Formats: sequence, structure tokens, C-alpha cells
Amino acid sequence: MTPLFELAQGQQYPAAALYVVATPIGNVADITLRALHVLGLVDRIAAEDTRNTGQLLARYGISKPLLAVHQHNERAAALRIVEHLQAGERVAYVSDAGTPGISDPGAKLVDAVREAGFPVIPLPGASALATALSAAGDWVATFSFLGFLPPKAKQRAATLQSLATHPQAMVFYEAPHRIVETVEALAEAFGGARKLLIARELTKLHEALHCCTLAEGPTWLAADPNRQRGEFVLVVEGAQQETAGEHDHDALLGILLEELTVSSAAKVAAAITGTSRNALYTRALALKKDGEDSE
Ligand code: SAM
Repeated sequence: MTPLFELAQGQQYPAAALYVVATPIGNVADITLRALHVLGLVDRIAAEDTRNTGQLLARYGISKPLLAVHQHNERAAALRIVEHLQAGERVAYVSDAGTPGISDPGAKLVDAVREAGFPVIPLPGASALATALSAAGDWVATFSFLGFLPPKAKQRAATLQSLATHPQAMVFYEAPHRIVETVEALAEAFGGARKLLIARELTKLHEALHCCTLAEGPTWLAADPNRQRGEFVLVVEGAQQETAGEHDHDALLGILLEELTVSSAAKVAAAITGTSRNALYTRALALKKDGEDSE
């Protein structure tokens, strides 16, 4: 049998190419053999934070010239990287943790390199998104990745309002100082009944995966301040789709809208059907607008 490291070495790694390399999200052992091989092979490593990456590389015994590419200099740094590629170098790009381009810099660099006519070669590896989803369960058949919600309450509420009827499970990233208010905002926008997976500190010493309802989420987080520390992925169940024979929301809202405001109609319909008030509000608004347009 071929030793695994030889498989990584056996592949062709062309010169004058950008290698987009995923790195661990916590546990340093979660680096692939190909990543180690390529990081050892390239002429230069572009990194979101050269100090962090320097420390990571030192753990694998790799020393290379480093170049900073972060969200504030990505376009300008991309031009410098293109110059290195024009000189025939292999350049790797790594973000601080996980897969570049996923809520991390990297996308603008990829655009610039491809536009300049050089190949972009991805090396897959850890990502908090895929790690959380792999342990989510059967209720997450399809999903949408939303990344970080807007930090300001008003914009966050508006974003969540627009997602209230989204049928797929939704995956969010969140930082510790906003975790409680974000879970509360999710419950407020989508109703308390939907499933929630809180995936905290994945691959690390204090890893925790807790599955509950949106209504139970804030209580679980509040029960122990340690549960609010670290890094989080939140997976939220999508909106239930109406099926034949179920509550006919449109018909109910239509009747209620004859007597009530949009807000009151949504409130009453939510009480009758158990569906999220926000989802019904969005639907009632659309029905009212349709009615007005056709008058
Ligand atoms: N590019 C990374 C990836 O592939 O997952 C994501 C980078 S983003 C700047 C950082 C966010 O990812 C954190 O705020 C958290 O929401 C999530 N994250 C990263 N590492 C994590 C971990 N070990 N456990 C849970 N969430 C994590």
C-alpha cells in the first residue's frame, strides 16, 4: 500500500499557481497531509495574520516567507501576489482558521489571480460550517449558509424577518459577546418551536454540541456562563412548508385581514396555527399588497 504522505507528494503541483489551503479550526492535528506537503513546497505563504500563521507553521516545522493578506488590504496585496506568480512562484493562501473565503478573506484574491490568468488550486480541509453540519442530524437535509448576522439589532431583525419563510435550514456564525442576543433574536423572528443546534468550540477542549428548540436556546446558554464563551455555529431549522390539508394560512389571513390590521391578523393567525408570527406577518403584508394592487 502507498504510504499516505506519498499520495500527497505524488500529485502534480504546478508552478505559478495560487494554492488556497484550509487550516485547522481548533485542533492542530486537523491539517491534511496535502496541506502540509503544499505548505512545505510553496515559495511563499500569504496569510490573514502572519503572526498566527507563523506559529501554526512552526508547529509543523515549516518556515517560509510570509505576506499579509487581510480584509483591509486584500486587493492591493492580491496585486503583489500576482507579481510573485508572474515570477513563476507557487503561493499558498491561508486564513486565520478553517477554509479561506468562508466568512474569511480570500475571495478577492481568488478573483484577482484568476483574472490575471493563473490557476487557483483549492486544498480542502477544516471548516466550522461543514464540521457543525456533519453532526447536525437528519433535519438538516438542505441548508443555506448565512455567515455572521448584522451586529446592529435593527438590521439583524430586518435580515431575520426576510428569512422567516426560508424553507432550508440556516447556518450562522456567531461570536461569544453576541451569542445570547442572536439566539433570542432568532426565536423572536422564527418562533420558539424550531430546532436549533448550538455547536460551540468545535474540535477544541471545551467542544459542546447542544440540540434544542429556539425557545430553549437562551435558557441553555444562561444556565452556565461558560456556555457563552468561545466560537459558535448555529444551525436553525427552516420554515415548515405548507402541505395540502394543513392550515390554509392564506385563506385564514384573508378572512382576518377583512377586519384587522396586518399585525393583528398575523398575531391571531399565529395563535390559531402555531406558525411563526413573523412568517405570517410577511405573508399577510404580501396578501394585503396583492389585494390593493388588484383594486
Ligand atoms: N473560515 C472559517 C471556516 O472555514 O469556518 C470561518 C472564519 S470566521 C472569521 C470565524 C467564525 O467561524 C467564528 O466566529 C465562529 O462563528 C466560526 N468558528 C470558527 N471556528 C470555530 C470552532 N472551532 N467552533 C465553532 N465555531 C467556529
